[in-house]
Amino acid sequence: MRSAEEVLAELRALRTADVPTHGGHTLAYVYDSGLDGLDELAAAAHALASSANGLDPTAFPSLLRMENDLVAAASRLLGGTERTVGSVTSGGTESCMLAVLAAREGNPGVTEPTVVLPSTAHAAFHKAAHLFRVRPVVVPVDPTSFRADPSSMAETIDENTVLVVASAPSYAHGVLDPIAEIAAVAAARGVRMHVDACIGGWVLPHFRRLGKAVPEFGFAVDGVTSVSVDLHKYAYCPKGTSVLLHADAELRRGHFFAGAGWPGYTMLNSTLQSTRSGGPLAAAWAVVQHLGDDGYLALAQASLDAVEKMWAEIAAVGGVRLLAEPDSTLLALTTDDGIDLFTVADEMKARGWYVQPQFAHESSPANLHLTITPANRGDEAEFGAALRESVADARAAGPVEVEESIAAFLADLDPDALSQEEFGDLLATAGMGGGAGLPERMAEINAMLAIARPKLRERLLQEFLGLLYRPS
Ligand SMILES: *Cc1c(COP(=O)(O)O)cnc(C)c1O
Repeated sequence: MRSAEEVLAELRALRTADVPTHGGHTLAYVYDSGLDGLDELAAAAHALASSANGLDPTAFPSLLRMENDLVAAASRLLGGTERTVGSVTSGGTESCMLAVLAAREGNPGVTEPTVVLPSTAHAAFHKAAHLFRVRPVVVPVDPTSFRADPSSMAETIDENTVLVVASAPSYAHGVLDPIAEIAAVAAARGVRMHVDACIGGWVLPHFRRLGKAVPEFGFAVDGVTSVSVDLHKYAYCPKGTSVLLHADAELRRGHFFAGAGWPGYTMLNSTLQSTRSGGPLAAAWAVVQHLGDDGYLALAQASLDAVEKMWAEIAAVGGVRLLAEPDSTLLALTTDDGIDLFTVADEMKARGWYVQPQFAHESSPANLHLTITPANRGDEAEFGAALRESVADARAAGPVEVEESIAAFLADLDPDALSQEEFGDLLATAGMGGGAGLPERMAEINAMLAIARPKLRERLLQEFLGLLYRPS
């Protein structure tokens, strides 16, 4: 046996290679309240319940109670009524997937079901469509505001549509879709409407209480039939929890599963998981109980202040601009010609800041995504200085050009017929031959991915994933 101390020491050492999850310098993936003691509370609660199994709520009534408490809290925040019900899931993707599944199952007469999505809807809906064999019908958003266009969406709804989706806000640009208009057209056609508030659902109601003009986007809006909100984002809970709310129990039924056709226990599942750890649920419950409305309000104030100050810092740096005025806590930053965006990301990384590259799509140019949290409050000027220096360095370095021969090779590659060999060649060209992890600087690789068509980019990255996940 290896001693517990030794194993934990190794784990700690491994974790030093990761981007930091606290301190506000990692501007995607992580959500830091900045509050002392919150992690310890969550870890203690997680430990108390991680061996409990949500598979059977009658055997583990504590988990049932905590789930109902969390759903009630989400429902209160999002305009739910006494008829609102919900489920705690493993994350936003699962919540979105279950909304699609429930809509498909709720329309058994539709043999070729579709889901109408604005082009900015989260990729989770494409995953749902892929897995559940529902066809995604993608509607372009307004090319300048990046908001969904209710009239184009209305024209797209037909007798095969089982679900219409809008975001509050969209992940890529941080803007709110016109929820009320879209919900009205969905309701007029008798079609379900899901509001993806995975990222905004726990913070925007507090912004409204603080006096920011935030349109209604939850069940207060006529026609909204389901809403997703992630607890592991702006509720500052450990990873592994989200809530999917439905306007009533009938709408939810379709994502439940019961399997009695085997000799074992009747498998009865409310979500995609069957055995479900009580750990993330208990941790989320403890964090939500502890922070309460006043705690979340104070955190929302800190985020709002940080967003405004970060925005002002960005506005003061020449050569960069925001793609949209932020409606929430997300910023999408792009660069002028002559300043290579991906080089800016590398330069920021070298200065200890992680910003997330997003590729061009429709009218949206390549940009850097920033998720702002309370941990950014107070360090906005430091961010501004790092950005100013990074932009200056990127300007001096000049644009990253993909070699013509590589560009031609990429243009000819058939994503469906990509061979291991071709992929190996590409990796070698990108300086990643030998399977030795990621290079320090990603600008060259991002430039190649940026010119690859989305289908090819998907295939290349899947191949890459296959190489990453190999037994050590
Ligand atoms: C994060 C997010 C999701 C997916 O959530 P995961 O927890 O990463 O699975 C879906 N929709 C929106 C708007 C999001 O921000």
